[in-house]
Amino acid sequence: MTTKNQNLSNLFSSSTFADMVRNKLMQKIEGHQPSNPQKKIYMMAWGDTTHPLPAKVVEALVDAATKLGHQSTYTGYGEFEGNIKLREAICNNYYKHRNIDLEPEEIFVSDGAQSATFDIQELFGLDNVVALQDPIYPPYLEANILAGRNKIIYLECNQGNNFVPDVPQSKVDIIYLCFPNNPTGAVATKEQLKAFVDYAITNKSVIIFDAVYNAFITDPNLPKSIYEVEGATECAIEIGSFSKMAGFSGLRLGWSVIPFTLTVESTVARELTQMYKISQSIKFWGASNLAQEGGIAALSQQCQQECQAIVNYYLENARILKEGLSAFGLTCFGGTNNPYIWVKGTEGMSSWEVFNQLLLKADIVGIPGSLFGSSGEGFLRLSTLGNREDMEKAMNNL
Ligand code: PLP
Repeated sequence: MTTKNQNLSNLFSSSTFADMVRNKLMQKIEGHQPSNPQKKIYMMAWGDTTHPLPAKVVEALVDAATKLGHQSTYTGYGEFEGNIKLREAICNNYYKHRNIDLEPEEIFVSDGAQSATFDIQELFGLDNVVALQDPIYPPYLEANILAGRNKIIYLECNQGNNFVPDVPQSKVDIIYLCFPNNPTGAVATKEQLKAFVDYAITNKSVIIFDAVYNAFITDPNLPKSIYEVEGATECAIEIGSFSKMAGFSGLRLGWSVIPFTLTVESTVARELTQMYKISQSIKFWGASNLAQEGGIAALSQQCQQECQAIVNYYLENARILKEGLSAFGLTCFGGTNNPYIWVKGTEGMSSWEVFNQLLLKADIVGIPGSLFGSSGEGFLRLSTLGNREDMEKAMNNL
């Protein structure tokens, strides 16, 4: 008889983060409005964007779609690693002005960062020890469980360390870092990232750096890429995304950098980059050509201001929300250089109690921090990627 994938089954039986959040939150909301199902709920749970695409991106999408409809300009499959113009734009318009020199062949375009979080771990053996931040963006953990990895340790992120963990005390092989962080709203300084890069070089470990929220960094002293730290191209993979930077969460476009100089045991320079190329050519035949044309437009100089204006809109949401919640007496972290606010309940309150308090007082729905890991207990994550009117009305309720 056929047997099932036990790893997938294990994940399924304990329920994935997305399922757990959806089911539990929906139950609570239904319980909150039994007599008035029309009652407005201010949904600040999902980290999904709401602002329309930049006009230049829309123009590029329409143009690309029109080309697909004509014999002379039609295009089919592209390069599996991504449109070369897009990979050049990522190198030249995104990395170069931060003094980071990368080759287009080191860039792999994906249909968002999410699939990359799964695909990248396939480069490494199942016996590696993995270090994850706690609280954590759950798909890193789920990807490793699904792959069958079980040596996992956690790096605690708490108020005492400003939600930026210390380097591991023991030897680990793979370290996942996410800055600006989801869910805590924290942003690591260059010195803090340097400590991890030094650790990784000394211990021959690999850092997988999730930079999907880096467009929210407005403080020029904070690093937007791990490659701003010297030596990082020897030990770090970076994941980027157009979702939050340019509103592509529905269009789906992201990328990963697998530097030529990154090596692990029994590999030589360029080998991991080549291995990733092979794996992508087996399982992923490239991102949508339409989305990629949109990505090229988003990275053009003319569009950068439009993208920044969208990011600034969300950052202003965050300012309004943080101010309102603080005036109400809640301690808030994040919300600057980051679209997430990490709300702390008063002493002794559990995450679900903070959740209930905001739901009852202001019809606001966030995600209890405990769902992101045990160190998230006592906190609630609010996303400010919604619309301004909702933020203002919710704060008036408070
Ligand atoms: N990484 C983090 C930390 C995220 O919060 C998200 C989405 O919210 C992703 C990756 C996935 O982004 P994408 O839309 O590019 O797949």
